[in-house]
This record gives sequence, structure tokens and C-alpha cells, in this order.
Amino acid sequence: MLMNTPEHVHCLIIGSGPAGYTAAIYAARADLKPLMYTGMEQGGQLMQTTEVENYPGYPNGIKGPEMMHDFLEQAKRFGTDVRFGMATKVDFTGPVHKVWIDDNIEIHADTVIIATGASAKWLGLDSENKYKSIGGVSACAVCDGFFYRGKDVAIVGAGDTACEEATYLAKLCKKVYMIVRRGEMRASKAMQHRVLNTPNIEVIWNAETKEILGDENGVTGAIIHIDKTGEDRKLDVYGFFVAIGHKPNTDIFKGWLDMDETGYIIAVPGTSKTKIEGVFAVGDAQDKIYRQAVTAAGSGCMGALDAERYLAAKGIH
Ligand code: NDP
Repeated sequence: MLMNTPEHVHCLIIGSGPAGYTAAIYAARADLKPLMYTGMEQGGQLMQTTEVENYPGYPNGIKGPEMMHDFLEQAKRFGTDVRFGMATKVDFTGPVHKVWIDDNIEIHADTVIIATGASAKWLGLDSENKYKSIGGVSACAVCDGFFYRGKDVAIVGAGDTACEEATYLAKLCKKVYMIVRRGEMRASKAMQHRVLNTPNIEVIWNAETKEILGDENGVTGAIIHIDKTGEDRKLDVYGFFVAIGHKPNTDIFKGWLDMDETGYIIAVPGTSKTKIEGVFAVGDAQDKIYRQAVTAAGSGCMGALDAERYLAAKGIH
């Protein structure tokens, strides 16, 4: 093989969260000899979580990074070629799909499974970053709300997600402070009504988070600034949730695949198929509703099965 001949694979998986690894396990066991490029954060969003208690099969819970290590080992066990690198450009003119890694490695693939995930948006405070790893700061109420049962928590955001998560937290927690940066919410009226009619949610309008407080065990409070009065207020909270939106990691596919206005890839309903034959989208890159590790894993499985069937129909072995 000439040095500059692009490597050709049957199945290229881009991304290494639950969706990517599950696609890899299925594709490898189907003998597709998948090649996976992990992206910058091998393991994806779960690398930033502490305890995961809602993934079936771990009765005592598991740390997010440990779980992703298990996923990696399982994908490798069946022969997935896992490499570190970031997909930076694609050409889906076809029939063979071209993907560039780190701008210089060119891969040719009969099938591509996009599992690039989404990234939660954060406020950008140093203290937020600190307690993300110690514990107490989370971007997923469904994942982490349980840890704050009977306690007071705060949530930032005013979209549908923030409203949904605030009402979810209100069922578990004693009190939920909802920190809204303007004098109104972006969320649908129905969702706002639910929030405003839940007695243990206090909406704090025109407020900005200045600092998240805590100690070696995690969050113990937050300082917020009320724009209208110019005052600071201290909230005694043990969980601090950020629900200010997600960004799907799909920029390199713009112009090639159908997407909604935020950049989530639109797949054919009930499948992982995109409008390009042989290109499949799985996990959070195409799901803004459920966004759970277990739903991402299920969707990764669909991607591998769709890829396998596509290759079989084309007679590619
Ligand atoms: P959105 O982008 O709709 O809302 C983000 C919210 O976060 C906005 O209220 C915004 O404030 C606020 N925000 C952004 N940055 C900051 C910041 N730095 N500090 C404080 N607040 C900030 O994101 P969502 O995740 O809520 O929703 C994404 C999409 O998913 C939407 O289309 C939504 O309708 C949909 N969705 C639907 C659901 C359903 O139908 N059940 C459930 C969940 C989501 P501001 O308004 O001032 O810009």
C-alpha cells in the first residue's frame, strides 16, 4: 500500500460515548471490523459525571468514567480498532464516504456511524467547573436529582428543559430555586404554568449566578445577583443544576445531512438512517428529547444493525 493511499474500512464510528461504543460492540460482533475515532473526550459526556445509578446492570451504581472504561473494554474485546482523533471534515458525495481525522488522516468508509453526541452548555464559572468534578453540579436532573432527595437545590435556565427538570426535581427535593436571567421565560406556556403552580419551586427572576459555594464534599450554596435591585442573595443548596441548553456536535456534517435549527441530525423516524445512504446517526447527535446513556446505547445498537443490513444488501463483505 502506498503511504498516501487512504485507509478503507467497512464501518467507521465517530464518537465514543455510550452510542458509539454500543455501535462498536454490535458492529465488531457482526464482523464489520469497525474503526472508531474517539473524539477529544474519549467516553463523552459521562466522563464528566460522578455517580451513575440509572444504567441497568450496575445495581450499586458506578462512576461515569468507570462505566465508559467498561464500554471501551467491551468494544475492544470483539476487535474494534479504537483510535484517538477528531473527525474534522467529511465528503459524503459517495458511494464511498470520506472522513478526515485531525485534518490530515483520510479514511474511506462504506458505512459511517455518527455518534458525536452533544455537549451541555455551562455558565463558565471556575467554581462550576470545580464542583462538576467534586460533586453537586450537574447538567442532568434525571441523572442526578436522586442524590438530593429531601434537600434544597437550584436550577439555572428558563427553557423547556429547565422547566421540565425543575418540576422533576420538585418531586424529589424539598425546595427548588429556579434562576432565570430575564423577567420572562423562553419555555412554552404550558411548561411555565407547571413551574409556577408547583408550590416548592421559587422562581428568581432577573438573576445571575455569581459563584457556586462548597467544600470538599461538594456544593453547599450559591451566590446570585439580582439585576433589578443590585443585591446579592445566598441560596443554601446542595445540588446546582444547569439547564441552559445543549449543542449537538454536528458542525462538520452541516450541508450534508438534514438537521433541525439547533443542529440535531434528523434521522428517518424509527431508524438511524440519514438522507445519505450508508451514513447513520445515533445517540445525542440526533436526540434532543431523551439524552440518556441507556437510550444512546440503544440507538447505537440500531446504527450498527442498520449498517450491517446496508452492507449485506450491497453485497459488501
Ligand atoms: P433553550 O435553548 O430553549 O433554552 C435555554 C435557556 O437557558 C433559555 O431560557 C436561556 O435564557 C437560558 N440561558 C442560556 N444561557 C444562559 C446563561 N449563560 N445564564 C442563564 N441562563 C441562560 O434550551 P432547552 O434545553 O430548554 O431546549 C432545547 C430545545 O428542546 C427547545 O426547542 C425545547 O423546546 C426542546 N425541548 C422540548 C421539551 C418538550 O417538549 N418536552 C423538553 C425539553 C426540551 P434566555 O431565554 O434569556 O435566552
